[in-house]
Amino acid sequence: MFDNLSDRLEGAFKSLTGDNRITEINVATSLKEIRRALVAADVNYKIAKEFTDKVKEKALGTENVLKAVKPGQLMVKIVQDELTELMGGQSVGINVKGDPAVVLIAGLQGSGKTTFSGKLAKYLQEKRKLKVLLTAGDVYRPAAIDQLTVLAGQVGAEIYKEPENKNPVEIALKAIDHARKNKFDVVIVDTAGRLSVDEKMMQEISDVRQAINPNETLFVVDSMTGQDAVNTAKVFNERIDYDGVVLTKLDGDTRGGAALSVKYTVGKPIKFVSTGEKMDALDVFYPDRMAQRILG
Ligand code: GDP
Repeated sequence: MFDNLSDRLEGAFKSLTGDNRITEINVATSLKEIRRALVAADVNYKIAKEFTDKVKEKALGTENVLKAVKPGQLMVKIVQDELTELMGGQSVGINVKGDPAVVLIAGLQGSGKTTFSGKLAKYLQEKRKLKVLLTAGDVYRPAAIDQLTVLAGQVGAEIYKEPENKNPVEIALKAIDHARKNKFDVVIVDTAGRLSVDEKMMQEISDVRQAINPNETLFVVDSMTGQDAVNTAKVFNERIDYDGVVLTKLDGDTRGGAALSVKYTVGKPIKFVSTGEKMDALDVFYPDRMAQRILG
């Protein structure tokens, strides 16, 4: 995960190690390398610049790298703290309080919504001991219903589906009713995605959201799409004001830009990261742990 970014950041601290006295020039060189590393990881230049400005302020101010016994190590710590802040600081959990709690899953087609729905059901059942109902709301892709049926079987969750019904609002409302009558704690509503953002899709997801008034709305996005991921996250947020982001495919050859800049750009926390196709490849997102991982 983020191997390239980790390598480049490691290289950025090189000018601050060794026997020679550290000068402001060394610090400036290091900052420049950090900025380049972030831009190469697909972080927007403005965000990267602001990031290194903050690091500079700390490094030459409160935490004075020039006087440190181990300036390189101190710089790593400052960068780690700032990366944690950039990714949201605190971990923000999913809200599953409700009777039942309704969780709406939105995103583009292929982003990993259906896979994530299965994983989330498994996580809530096993880690949080909740009874979960999965709802097949992707009415355009018949294969999506089959896919969710298979995943529900794998994770041992019940599924609500109506293959003949093409009205996602109706399906979701009936699923919630079924959940209430049968004492489910959580209803996860998987929805249809399209290959790109279009008005019809936005209207539909917005209608579903309004009709079911979910306790939690999660936006699922493929981290491999870099800056596009962040742009799509912004467009969806303007329309459905979701509660959190799920970054998928972090196991792939992703550069890291989406993970680093989505909170800054959209203002919503990343809540989960998905790291594979298997049902247990899901992690709750902790900004500090991710920062630590990036810096190796
Ligand atoms: P949807 O159209 O948004 O419901 O997307 P799917 O859940 O069908 O996922 C699209 C493809 O991405 C499938 O082949 C999934 O197996 C795959 N996929 C989903 N999440 C991940 C992930 O975290 N890592 C990897 N490597 N593949 C994933």
